[in-house]
Amino acid sequence: MTDWQELGKKYLFNCIDRIPVTIARGQGVRVWDDNGKEYIDFVGGWAVCALGHCHPVIVNALTEQAKTLIQTSHIYYTIPYIKLAELLVKNSCLDRVFMCNSGLEANEGAVKLARRYGKLKLNGAYEVITAFNSFHGRSLAMTAATGQPKYQEAYQPLPVGFKNVEFNNIEAIKAATTNQTCAVMLEPIQGEGGVNIPDDGYLKAVRKWCDEKGILLILDEIQTGVGRCGTLWGYQLYGIEPDIMTLAKGLGGGVPIGAFMAKEKCAVFAPGDHGTTFGGNPLTCATAHAVFKYVIDNDVPGMAKKAGQYLLDNLKKLKSRYSFITEVRGRGLLVAVYFNKDIGQDVLTACLQTGVLINRLKPNAIRLMPPLTITNKEIDEGLARLDKALATIKV
Ligand SMILES: *Cc1c(COP(=O)(O)O)cnc(C)c1O
Repeated sequence: MTDWQELGKKYLFNCIDRIPVTIARGQGVRVWDDNGKEYIDFVGGWAVCALGHCHPVIVNALTEQAKTLIQTSHIYYTIPYIKLAELLVKNSCLDRVFMCNSGLEANEGAVKLARRYGKLKLNGAYEVITAFNSFHGRSLAMTAATGQPKYQEAYQPLPVGFKNVEFNNIEAIKAATTNQTCAVMLEPIQGEGGVNIPDDGYLKAVRKWCDEKGILLILDEIQTGVGRCGTLWGYQLYGIEPDIMTLAKGLGGGVPIGAFMAKEKCAVFAPGDHGTTFGGNPLTCATAHAVFKYVIDNDVPGMAKKAGQYLLDNLKKLKSRYSFITEVRGRGLLVAVYFNKDIGQDVLTACLQTGVLINRLKPNAIRLMPPLTITNKEIDEGLARLDKALATIKV
């Protein structure tokens, strides 16, 4: 039998701390490795597989569109692109859409749009204020936007134009705002940075400040959007509306697609200002349209809200039994478990044994972000395996 991991070590860049599992197949909330071992998947393609693995809606959309048209260029109109854009606009507070291929590309587009706005309407203002512990992607500019030194240090010097300030602190944003500021960019809930949930009044205060100063509010909903937090969009949790919003992860249910959306007042791009070769590709747009329509028609955000509450309640029961668990927090199906010691990696390794995939969020924390369609029974099964793993941890 081929040792795929040996081959991978030989041929792939060694820039990822890979987990020693070769996933060969997936169905619903389960995946199987190349030895046929089954796992409950609480990682869900990194908060991507909103409907689970190989959902028939996705498989059908992909196969039908593959037989019809796969790639043109967005220089032509194509039907899947327009249908997806219409559905996104009709189900959000935004008016216009640009499709791309990933999260970072959506954020780059959003920042370019904010800079165009700054040039045209704010006397050339170009700076974007972002938060510490944020995550906005891995391009050089998004590394500068991402307020985490561990991602930035290896790549200095980084592009200018970003100011990182403390999250959940409106005064920090006020202090960083100058006449060069064109936008504030935040995640409604910080995902990669620790499942950091801001106080209720924070985003309202940021919205008010942006309005007072005439600057734009960009919300990075790449992880929180499309139902992940129990509402269709993260901004609905906080009773505000962004001027620009970025999407990716759950949008395609597994196919690589990103998007940024804007209100009409800041949709200031002119022909030639931005582009992409693959973005808006009929194959990914038709699939994302099918996924997003399923999410809307079946109240998948409501499902995620109920399942998320069930998951949180049961994790709290585990917390009462394991004294090394210090905190369980989340919204919808974006959930973190914190420990009093750096045992995240040990927990992950034990979970591989017991058959559940989790994300080691920090040295002392794990994250669960399963498919939004997960049932209580499947949650029970996954948590029983997590419980079994926790029982082996020596502290
Ligand atoms: C994953 C993520 C990104 C980056 O998306 P990529 O597709 O990996 O470029 C950006 N912002 C947030 C909030 C994310 O969770």
